[in-house]
Amino acid sequence: MNLSRRNFVRGSVVSLAALAAGASASGCAGSAEADVDVFDTGYVRPPGARTPEDFDARCIRCGKCIQACPYESIHAVRNVFSLQSSTPYLDVRAKACRMCEDLPCIAVCPTEALHHLDDRRDIRMGTAVIDEESCIAFDGMRCEVCYRACPLIDEAITIDFRERPHDAQHMVFAPVIHEDTCTGCGLCVERCVTDVPAVHIVTDMDEYRSRVDAASR
Ligand code: SF4
Ligand code: SF4
Ligand code: SF4
Repeated sequence: MNLSRRNFVRGSVVSLAALAAGASASGCAGSAEADVDVFDTGYVRPPGARTPEDFDARCIRCGKCIQACPYESIHAVRNVFSLQSSTPYLDVRAKACRMCEDLPCIAVCPTEALHHLDDRRDIRMGTAVIDEESCIAFDGMRCEVCYRACPLIDEAITIDFRERPHDAQHMVFAPVIHEDTCTGCGLCVERCVTDVPAVHIVTDMDEYRSRVDAASR
């Protein structure tokens, strides 16, 4: 079995419910079959998209949201072998969503594949998940770049100060994502300092958690 670094995952994300209960919902270390990217659970769709089924049924591939995005964050899937070809998605590492106040991508959608949102804080494109194996904060380095980049700083992402096991000299300033607040905008991914980002936008947390569970067995 060819086990890559990314197959050993301790994703770091907590829900407010878990926090209230004093419990962490973090994943755990483990192994998995090769080529399984536990973080890749589907395309990151523009704001206002709901379930994949709802989006697939409504999107007519007109490209209006792509044209409307002032930051050129939205692209069309280019894969003639895929049923998703020509549908809009975001590559947040290249250019994240800026959470525009007036949500122009939603405003131009003619089919409500992108549903109206009352507030940009209601955007749910996915959930950021920290890969603790890659994040340099867990190696005792102070980074916090993702924390500073987040438009919902101290709400969607906070810093947990803790001692580093078996290390008397360094503290860990660990970024912690708050699932109930994170919009999945991807600014943390865009700005992450590691070559391969140590934070990912997961579009289906149930699928992600089941993959982590399977990897830990
Ligand atoms: S909210 Fe703004 S930046 Fe984000 S996808 Fe829509 S138009 Fe682009
Ligand atoms: S995805 Fe956006 S809202 Fe969520 S933690 Fe990253 S920067 Fe903050
Ligand atoms: S920017 Fe990347 S490396 Fe730095 S703390 Fe955030 S996830 Fe870790």
